[in-house]
Amino acid sequence: MVDAVWVEVRRQLRASLRAKDYETWIAPLQATAWDSNELTIEAPSSFVVDWLRANYIAALQEAVDAAVGSPARLKLIVNRALAVEPAPRQRRGTIRVEERQVTAMPPARCTFDNFVVGRSNQVPYEAARAVVEKPGARFNPLFLYGGVGLGKTHLLMAIAHALGTRNGEHSVAYVSAETFVNEMIMALRRHQMERFRLRFRRVGTLIVDDIQFLADKVRSQEEFTHTFNALHDGRRQIVIASDRAPDDLPGIETALRSRFNSGLLADVQPLDAELRVALVRRKAEDAGLVLDDEVVEHLAEHWCENGRALEGVIMRVEAFASLTGRAATLGLVREALVAYGRAKPGRKTLGRIVGEVCRHYKLTRTEISSARRTNRIAVPRQLAMYLCRRHTDEPLKAIGAELGRDHSTVVHALGAIEERLKNDAAFRETVSRLEQSLGS
Ligand code: ADP
Ligand code: MG
Repeated sequence: MVDAVWVEVRRQLRASLRAKDYETWIAPLQATAWDSNELTIEAPSSFVVDWLRANYIAALQEAVDAAVGSPARLKLIVNRALAVEPAPRQRRGTIRVEERQVTAMPPARCTFDNFVVGRSNQVPYEAARAVVEKPGARFNPLFLYGGVGLGKTHLLMAIAHALGTRNGEHSVAYVSAETFVNEMIMALRRHQMERFRLRFRRVGTLIVDDIQFLADKVRSQEEFTHTFNALHDGRRQIVIASDRAPDDLPGIETALRSRFNSGLLADVQPLDAELRVALVRRKAEDAGLVLDDEVVEHLAEHWCENGRALEGVIMRVEAFASLTGRAATLGLVREALVAYGRAKPGRKTLGRIVGEVCRHYKLTRTEISSARRTNRIAVPRQLAMYLCRRHTDEPLKAIGAELGRDHSTVVHALGAIEERLKNDAAFRETVSRLEQSLGS
């Protein structure tokens, strides 16, 4: 009975929910018992249970009633064996995740354990862990920034999840900047600003995703600044994710920008070659896909610009393999991905090259593009220009713009680097290592 009911419930939910939501929140569940008109559903974590209660309980109830043919009761319980991560020793903390409009949600199991760490994301990863260790104590705010699909939201969710499973009371609010704005507008309209403020100010940790959405929204920024101050003064933790560094964010008021800059800025850099391979392995494993090294390398090189793109590709390969009953060989992978266009040769974008140089010299993006001319920064900047010139087809103007310079500065930089390469063996060594990690 339980299986029959569950198959039907899943069928209905698959039809009624968005694919992404279904995959994220429903697919990981298991129905384990049907007893006295009550269906027991197991979820991998209390985090998922909370999320289901907040967002999908009505849809679940409806689907179960329809499957059973009469009103039934639902029991949601946690079964950690369904989760990827090991069970925490003891759990008394509560987590309230307050998020209604989720735009692009990563999988339900975004934890530290299934975050693949490499050179490109080590700093944000360690910073996120430190925040969980002692929220509000060290990096406050923690400001994560970087390109799309590189794991920012994953890390935010991991923080929320980990704080929620700690001992003791620690409430967490995870919200996208878009939701913050929408709810503020709603509260203004309904004259419920006090309630709105209280909601965000009583939390132990406030996590705000995609802060770039606040651009040019002066009233929202003002409100957010007050929230920020109240939490910060109370030594509560604030974690923010953004697609750019504070200084590069357009349309953000100076007051807010300087608050963002006041904590730890950690950039999630484009995936380096090693990390891409590790990520392919991990995502294939998660999808139950067995891949030869040759296939792993192919995917890492051509289809792994970021985690999100890779997941789509893996899903496609998995589906193709299981539908045709064939093994996921290189041939099959090529066939499966034909529809996605020609495989791009390991694309070296300006951003990736500059990121690689920054990592090597331990500079931030902001530093390398700054007006400063000290050797510590000027040489890496010139080198970045040189590598961009050699490894992309971008015009000089675009290369200059990537580093906040005009094209004549790029011309000058190319000459300076070539000169240096002639005379400095250690520098040649550095450059060749950098080129290696760029995959040339
Ligand atoms: P962002 O918020 O930076 O745009 P996401 O966190 O949404 O990116 O990541 C996109 C997808 O890629 C998610 O499903 C995420 O789990 C996955 N992903 C990205 N980076 C990693 C990583 N280092 N380890 C594991 N999964 C990752
Ligand atoms: Mg995101």
